Amino acid sequence: MIHLTRYIDFEASHYYYLPELSEEENYQIFGNKVNQHGHNYSVHLTVGGKIQSSDGMVINIKDVDELIRSYINQHYDHKQINQQHPVFSADPCIQPTPENIAIELWRATSQDLATLGVNMRAIRLTEEERTYVQYYGVEPMIHLTRTYEFSAAHRLHSSELSDDENTEIFGKCNNPNGHGHNYVLDVTLSGEVDQRTGLLVRIVDLDQVINKKVFGRFDHKHLNLDTVEFQNLNPTSENFVRVLWELIESDILSLSPSRSVRLHRLRLKETPKSFFDYYGD
Ligand SMILES: [Zn+2]
Ligand SMILES: [Zn+2]
Repeated sequence: MIHLTRYIDFEASHYYYLPELSEEENYQIFGNKVNQHGHNYSVHLTVGGKIQSSDGMVINIKDVDELIRSYINQHYDHKQINQQHPVFSADPCIQPTPENIAIELWRATSQDLATLGVNMRAIRLTEEERTYVQYYGVEPMIHLTRTYEFSAAHRLHSSELSDDENTEIFGKCNNPNGHGHNYVLDVTLSGEVDQRTGLLVRIVDLDQVINKKVFGRFDHKHLNLDTVEFQNLNPTSENFVRVLWELIESDILSLSPSRSVRLHRLRLKETPKSFFDYYGD
């Protein structure tokens, strides 16, 4: 089984608005997304299949493009989704959120892909640079990833090792005066889409958790000197990603207990050359 991923871009406009609510109530839920606005969307479509002995390919990319591109051209590209998409225009209660668009794309195209001999495995939809949703075909489960960046100093040093051993193991990172990084943290949540809002969580609510629990504690701080978490703990990325998990896990759980929204993965990048993934214990 080989997995093949193809990128497809489109541009479209939309707004979120629940017809049963007042303007003010809509604004409280969706903020300025109640106003019509637009995005450059990017779809990463992953299909799986067996290599064909005749041509050595899983599927001809031309055929994937033809199928998906024509569907997207017809219903999404340079369209007003609320008013021009057959599903979203037919029912104004279904909001054209990235979550719902990913699910709709899957429903509309996966069967045609199957007739070409491949199975849809994942759809990743990016609406703006820092946030994307991933859908794996199990309704109404969605993964949502948002990226955060903060800066901190640290010194890698273990109290269980001698000074010489610390120098040998950590090298320049053991510099007594410390050094620093732009940390990049990808936070991935999973859970059921809220059938009413079409969202897994409101991004503002997720941002609030990260602002309070991550930025408030660690941004522009010296991890060893300024934080209780690393007073006796070596601030390696491995330890850091676990500390971050423990700090935010319960806040994420309380965002929507009824839809079992939970923290799925934390990915911490200390430098652009390496990253550390943690999925909890
Ligand atoms: Zn939008
Ligand atoms: Zn470092």
